[in-house]
Formats: sequence, structure tokens, C-alpha cells
Amino acid sequence: MLIKKSAVELGQLIAAGEVSAVEVTQAHLDRIAVVDDRVHAFLHVGSGSALEQAAAVDARRAAGETLGPLAGVPIAHKDVFSTHDMPTTAASRILQGWRPPFDATVTARLRAAGLVILGKTNMDEFAMGSSTENSAYGPTHNPWDLTRIPGGSSGGSSAAVASYEAPLATGTDTGGSIRQPAAVTGLVGMKPTYGGSSRYGLIAFASSLDTPGPFARNVLDAALLHEAFSGHDVMDSTSIDAPVPSVVAAARQADVAGLRVGVVREFSGDGYQPGVLARFHEATELLESLGAKVVEVSCPAFDYALPAYYLIAPSEASSNLARFDAMRYGLRVGDDGSRSAEEVMALTRAEGFGAEVKRRIILGTYALSSGYYDAYYGKAQQVRTLISRDFDAAFEQVDVLVSPTTPTTAFPIGERADNPMAMYLADLCTIPSNMAGNAAISVPCGLADEDGLPVGLQIMAPVLADDRVYRVGAAVEKALEDRWGGPLLGKAPQL
Ligand code: GLN
Repeated sequence: MLIKKSAVELGQLIAAGEVSAVEVTQAHLDRIAVVDDRVHAFLHVGSGSALEQAAAVDARRAAGETLGPLAGVPIAHKDVFSTHDMPTTAASRILQGWRPPFDATVTARLRAAGLVILGKTNMDEFAMGSSTENSAYGPTHNPWDLTRIPGGSSGGSSAAVASYEAPLATGTDTGGSIRQPAAVTGLVGMKPTYGGSSRYGLIAFASSLDTPGPFARNVLDAALLHEAFSGHDVMDSTSIDAPVPSVVAAARQADVAGLRVGVVREFSGDGYQPGVLARFHEATELLESLGAKVVEVSCPAFDYALPAYYLIAPSEASSNLARFDAMRYGLRVGDDGSRSAEEVMALTRAEGFGAEVKRRIILGTYALSSGYYDAYYGKAQQVRTLISRDFDAAFEQVDVLVSPTTPTTAFPIGERADNPMAMYLADLCTIPSNMAGNAAISVPCGLADEDGLPVGLQIMAPVLADDRVYRVGAAVEKALEDRWGGPLLGKAPQL
């Protein structure tokens, strides 16, 4: 069955002419037609443009061109990346129907690699959330259990890959929005080093944290996608002008012999689901059995990462979202000639933004206001420095750090919707790597005993050591798949 194949296999079959890119694309469009009314991973499906892109790949092959490893492979693209030929809404009413006049750098690089963009995936509005319930267009459902959340904010992307609607997807990770959805749907999700992937054409949430990255069903597929869209971009002033770490080679290497692994002491105990801790503990034992040296490491400032993040991210968001002024994009409310520009702006923002987005704008505006700036935003920046120092000290003792990706498995839709504090806790373990900008991946490490739902292992490495998390992730994946007799996703119920 084509939809069950990995991206690597599909790329090989297409390059060898054993199957056409059009057939592969059609198989995924058919799958979307069968399951997406239940999953709701997509906000927009671009069947026509996808089949055209696929046909173009087939024509290049027919003309004798050597195709890249992902040419003709379909991908689901988070609706936060600008696409000139499809709507781009960031799941907000305020951008309903907006078509950007240009492609994001990530979008352009997907096209250049011959990837076929199937459509745009659902997300929490402006990437604010951990469940995809904050979408203005309705929630996405977890393919493992349709009554549960697929994580967030990139929950449409995780659900699309976990339900075999696409072998690959893009996401963005500001506080955990790739790793947490990957963990709760049994996928691989990677947050590259900040600045390693371009933010140009990405609808900004918190510019000092936002990082595009890949979703896949295995580590090697994620590495191939990572290499396809990463690397220096002159259009992004925070883009790193350095070679992309050799993540594909690292994923193929897949060994941990002699590697020093640090278990983050702060990420366990109260608030962690027993089944999550049990699988995490087994994963550390597995690493030891594969030849790694596992020690406990303390990173005391990590305890303050969550409150500091909820000052920094909303502060940046309050500034970034000021551009939605009813004049430049999308929605405009009450512009009947009787109202001033200020009144139209206020009406548009009141109607166009959802409750969580408004909460963040208010929090951020408050934290930045004169008289409170030093006490809130300034202090949070100091905590950010302390977190980076904890990472620096830890990486003097160990090569990688590990933790559960998220404290619990996928929770029921609705359970935390009215409790922002409970929702924010989903990113407890992922936020430190956003604050410090280092590389971190989530790989599946089993199912929790209580509910039979997927658990993620987070592997963190220093800035620009992205290859290291792929190497460790691939080693864990290989050993666990031997034990399970195949990928964890094979245990998910059939949709
Ligand atoms: N859940 C976090 C938040 O709501 C992180 C979101 C993200 O990484 N985009 O801010």
C-alpha cells in the first residue's frame, strides 16, 4: 500500500520509475478523502496544484533528469507558512481567505526539492496552544483516539502524518509545537537549532523562538526533510550562516556507543503520568544497553522556563500581531463609511482574534508596559540566560540530555480548553530548548499502560549539534522497532 510507505521508499520508487509521482499523490488525496472528515487535519486541500506538481516531477524524470531523494513525495504544510497558490490563515479568522503574494523560504525549498504540497494543515490560532483546539476552524482529532487532541500547535500536521494522509509534514516549534504533537501521535518531530531553518514568510508568533522543523514516521525521513528546507537564508536576519549539520548521515549512523547521556532531574515526579515515566525509564535503560553512559544531570533554572516563556512569547506576540490592523490583510469589520480607522481596527481585532490570542496580546502588552518591563520582561530575559547556562554546564558533562517530551499522553478534547494553566503544562519539558535555541527531537518510545497512547522521548543537543539528536534518535528507533516488530504507529487502530 503506497500510503504506508516511508518517504525514503516513495522517493526511491519514484526515482526508479516504479511508480509515478502522480500515482503517489493520488493515493494520498484518496486517503484524505476517506479519513479527513473524521480527523480534520487539513484546512485546505490543493488537489489540482498537487497533481500538477507531481506531473512536473514525472516529466522531469521522463526527460532524463536525476531526481532528488524527496522528489514527488507528498507533504502536508502547516498553515502558518506563506504559499502563493493556497490560502494562508494561521487558523485565524482575521486572515480568512488571505492569499500571500509570495512563498515562505521553507515553502520555496519544498518546491525546489520536488516535494508535492497536498494542502495546508490545521493548527492553534497563530500557533498559540498545545491541542489545536484554538483553531478558529474547529479542532483536529488524534488518529489514535478521535476523542483526543493531536497536540499543538502543529496538530493538523501530526494528525495528517499519523493517519497516513501524508508521509511528511512541516511544523513550527516556538515552545514545543513540533515535539509535543509528535509525541502524542507516535511520530518523530524535530526542532532544529534556532536560526537553522528560515522564518522568512512564516507568520510570526514569537520571533526569537519560532523554528520551522519536520514531522515524519521515522527518523531518517525527518532528517531528509530537515536537510531539504534548512540552511542559510539572506531573507531572515537571524538565519545562521553555517553549513547544515549532516543530519541524514547521522540518522543512517544510528549508534550511541560511548555516548554520554544526561537525564534531566527536574523533569520527573509530580504531574508526570506514571506510564510516561515508565516508558522514559525503559528508554534510558535501552540507551545504556546500547553502550551509552547514562548519568543524572541537574538543570535548576529549567523550573522557571515555563513562567519565563509565558512572559517572553506573549510580549513578542503582542508586538508581532499589531500588524493585523484591518487595513493590510484579510478581515475588515464595520467599514461602512461611518467609522474611524481606529474603530474599524478595534472591531476587526475583537471579532478576528480568538480568546487565547487576545489573552496573549493582553499579557504581553502588560509585561512590556513602562513600569512593569523590568519586573516582568526583563526578569524573564535573565531567566533565559540562566537556562542557556544550565545547558552549557550540562553539555560539559554529557553529549545529549534526555527527558519525556511531554508529561502526559494525549488528553481528551475539551479537558483543558477552559484551563490555560493546565494547557501550558504540556510544554514543560520542551520550552527550555526554545529559550536556549538548541536542537531537540522527539521519538516514539512506547505506549503508556494506563491508556495505550504514545509516549515521546525527547533528546536535546547543543546549538548546531542537530546531527547528534538524529544519531541517538535513530539508534533508539532501531532498537525499539526490533522489539516491537515494526514502527509504533503500526499499533494504532485502523481508521
Ligand atoms: N504550547 C505553547 C504555546 O502555546 C507552544 C506553542 C508553539 O510552540 N507554537 O505557546
